[in-house]
Formats: sequence, C-alpha cells, structure tokens
Amino acid sequence: MLKRLILTTFSAVVCTQFHPLIAQSQWSLNETPTYDQLIQAYKFLDEKHIEIELYALGPSDTDLPSYVCVINGAGDSTLTFEKCRKGTTVLINNAIHPGEPDGVNASLIWIEDWIKTGKKTKDLPCIAFIPAYNVGGMLRRGSYSRANQDGPEEYGFRGNTQNLDLNRDFIKMDSPNAKTFARIFHALDPDVFVDTHVSNGADYQYTLTYISPLKERMSPSQSKLMYDQMIPDISNKLKKKKWDLFPYVDLKEDTPLDGLVAFNDLPRYAMGYAGLFQTLAFTVETHMLKPFPQRVSATKDFIYELIEWTGANASKIELIRSQARSEALHDSWFSYGYNLTEKRDSIKFKGFQEIYPLSEVTGLPRLKYDRSQPYERFIPWFKTYASSDSIKIPETIFVHPSAKGVIENLQMNQILFSRTSNDTLIEVSTNKITAFKSLERPYEAHFYHQDVATDRVIQKVVMPKGTVIIPTRQKGIAFILSTLIPEAEDSYFRWNYFDSYLQQKEYFSSYVFEDKALELLKEDPELAAEFQKKKDSDAKFRESQWEQLFFIYKRSPYYEQTDHCLPVYFSY
Ligand SMILES: [Zn+2]
Repeated sequence: MLKRLILTTFSAVVCTQFHPLIAQSQWSLNETPTYDQLIQAYKFLDEKHIEIELYALGPSDTDLPSYVCVINGAGDSTLTFEKCRKGTTVLINNAIHPGEPDGVNASLIWIEDWIKTGKKTKDLPCIAFIPAYNVGGMLRRGSYSRANQDGPEEYGFRGNTQNLDLNRDFIKMDSPNAKTFARIFHALDPDVFVDTHVSNGADYQYTLTYISPLKERMSPSQSKLMYDQMIPDISNKLKKKKWDLFPYVDLKEDTPLDGLVAFNDLPRYAMGYAGLFQTLAFTVETHMLKPFPQRVSATKDFIYELIEWTGANASKIELIRSQARSEALHDSWFSYGYNLTEKRDSIKFKGFQEIYPLSEVTGLPRLKYDRSQPYERFIPWFKTYASSDSIKIPETIFVHPSAKGVIENLQMNQILFSRTSNDTLIEVSTNKITAFKSLERPYEAHFYHQDVATDRVIQKVVMPKGTVIIPTRQKGIAFILSTLIPEAEDSYFRWNYFDSYLQQKEYFSSYVFEDKALELLKEDPELAAEFQKKKDSDAKFRESQWEQLFFIYKRSPYYEQTDHCLPVYFSY
C-alpha cells in the first residue's frame, strides 16, 4: 500500500513562531519526519529563536552532516559549548535506530512546549538534542522493517549506510557517526544523557521502560544519587502524569514470569560509553505494541521530567560527579568481566496472562499474552552483577606508534598523552595473549574475541620514537582502561585492532632444525631434562616430530619473543 506523504500534512499549517512541522507534530499523528523535514524544522527554530542554536558538528555516514541543537546555551558556538561543559547539561540522542523514532517527535514537541510556555531558562540546564543520529538509516525509509511495532506509518532503518548498528559502535568507532558523536559528547561533557529507543520482546502493561547503568560499575555516590533519588523522583513525577516507569523488560528465559534481568550496559552502547565519563545515563525504551502517539507522549514526559530534575538538582549532580571523577583517579584496581549473578530479588510487575492456544499456522501451541487478563504480581528480578577479574591499574600505558587507529580513537576521546622523542629502553609489563576465542561469524563487522587470557612479564622493551605515553590518572581513565586492558569486555584487542599480532611470523624447517635442536639440548641440561620429562609424560608428544622440535624451538633464542605480544605496555 502506498503511504501518504508526510510533507503534505506538515506543510498545511503556516505559523510564524513554530515551524509547520512542529505545529503539526502532536501525538495524535502517526507520523515522524523525514531527515530533511527534521533538519528544516531545527534550522527554522535556530533562525527564529536566539535561545535555540543548531550546529553541524561533523560528518555522518552520508553526505549530510550530523547536527546538535543546544537550548539555553550562550548564543555563540564557543561560549555555548563552554557553558555546557562548565555548567549542567542534558544530552538527548535520537534515532540511533531510526525505526524507533519516538524521541525524534518527542524532542520537537518538548521544544514546542518550551516555546509555548515562555521559554523559561531559569533553573534550566543546558539542553542538547541530537535530532537524528543515524542519518543513513533515516534516509532509508519504509514501513516494514519493524514488523512488531505499532506505528508510525513510515520510519527509517536500523543499520546505517555501512549496515552497522550504531548502538554497538561507540568504542570500535567504525562509523563516521561515532567519531562525530565523540566530538559532540566531549564538546558538551553532559552530566545526564538519554538515548531514545522502542523495545522488542514480550507484551506487558507498561508504555515507558528504561535501562539504567549497572550499579557495580558506577561510583557508589553516583549510584546512590541515581537509584535513591533521581529514578524514584522521576518515577513519582511520571506517575502523576499516569505513566508507570518500569525497568526494561529483558527476559531471563521465555516469559516475564521466569524473571527479568538487568541489562549490562557495556561501553559499546551509547549509555555505557557515557558512563565511562561519569555521565548519568539512561536508555528509554517505549513498548513497541503501544500506539506511536502514546509512546511519543511518554518519551516526551520522560525527557521533560529528566530535564526538570537535572535543573532542580544541578549543584548536587555537579558535586557528586566531581567526587566520582576524583574517586576514579584514586582507584587501585580496575574490575572487568561483569557477569549476572544468581542473586534473586523480586519486583512487582504489571503483565498480561500468558496463554498457549494451538496455532492456526503451525498446529503447535503458541505463546500469547492475553490482554483481557492483566495481572500485577511479584516476579524474580536478577539485577546483581559481579566482576570476574581485576587488574592493578598501571600508572602509565605505552602504545606503539604503529597502532594508528587506536591512537586516533584515544585522541577523539580527548585522552591526553605525549610521545617519546627518541627510541627509549623502558622497563614495562608486556601483554602476551595466551588464549582467546574468536566468534565464528562476524558481529558488527568484527570477529570479536572472547575468553581472553594474558601473560604479563616485566622486561625492558625499546619504545621507538613516537611511542604514545598515556598517564592513566586523567579524566578519561575509565575509557583508557576499558579499551587498552585486553581482557576488558570492549577492549581494542577484543574488537580486532591488534589481530596482526596474533600470528607468528617466522618458523623453522624441521629437517634443518633437527641438528640445531640436538645442539641446544646438549648445551642446556635443564632444557634437556624438561624435554625428557615432557616426552615421558605425554604419549601424543612422543609421536609428533613437529611438536617435539617446536618445544625446543620455543625455548631457544630463535623463537620470536614478540609472538602474540600486543604493542601495548603497562608501567606501574
Ligand atoms: Zn533501539
């Protein structure tokens, strides 16, 4: 079926203060703007209102730029970003998944309401909206890619022009969008961040759900602020607007009655990335089976309450954030490998009764949520994570100058470093990869590594001229450690930035090395004893010429000392 062109609807009203698009963008409509219409609307707002500033801050995955709109700035690009960095700022990111455009409309409606109610700036933080982050996905419009979603009529596509899910790209940074996001993020240094989405999954009564950071990865003071004050306060305010704010419904098994699990906000995701810089971060997930106008309304009210709360608690947020940053600078250990524990809490849940009628398609029992049977009951809630390991935090990390992609990403994240001016011999701890397992199929353009193990030895290594010297005790400490400690979940090692180091470059020919091996055994009685012991205890080894020779080769000066060693070194 042909879809009605949105432009015809939006151009029907002409109004001096509001852009026609905005004046029409009430939640009674089941429509969301195209990227062109959206940017036109923001440009219009920028021209008409001095308090609204639109900036093109860098390339997107298309020829079009990525924009950020700042409200309550200082009227000038330099001063505005300085005001945002120094003051309290909320950043709202929309359409990272353009098939989930609730935040696109909600942000426009919030701005419209703000203009209508007299453009209050007192007690208001700086507010920054990314109108639509995934530009390429916005341009690929259709009506079928969100099969389970109730509106809008047309919407964009999840992947960007590279077919990447941008909400997995904040560390590996394969997209121009992620690079521009880093620029926007550090230009604003937001205190509070929200990424707007629409959920998939089970059916239940809630319209508005949210993901908040793992408590275990936050500073205790920020976790207390978020979980004891911010979320309860915002929930209470939303309740008065008839919205039940509920944690994101991530199922432990098949249905809510089996229990829910807290989502692990790894740094690859927008909110996990924001958390690395002590930003209080949320993902809002409205429920796909609720009509689009209702979802937009809920997202708008969440944004409204988030901004109000941030404004009212600005000094507390700032104080606790600076405490959290100072605590991070003084930590001795860095924990990683966070896994869900079996600790079982419970949470009151408003669901719909599950029934299993026979399917008319397959003839087999099928799951159905019966909306005529709503229930409210306690269900299991697994929200406690524990780290599986930790490492003593190095004072300095050295990165070989050949690791250009990594160095570029560090720079884009405003990590401070210097470089060696000459070849320099330095005693460091090496990072030798002793085990890893790569995915069998690519995930987001990478063969991501799992089950990573390393061996670290202290030795003197020549750092060539231009080696990057990163003092870890700086604002971006969590970013540095999360990306450069190979075992960390979203390290550059795991994301294949150092794969060339996982291959031994030189070998030997067995028939030639036979004579050398014999010589080595004669010269080194300890090696000979070790070799004999292995032969005595390992039948398979006794039968393999190559394994026996390699055993001796590996313990000789001919073996490549740098095999599987990453060009990343730690100093304590
Ligand atoms: Zn999404």
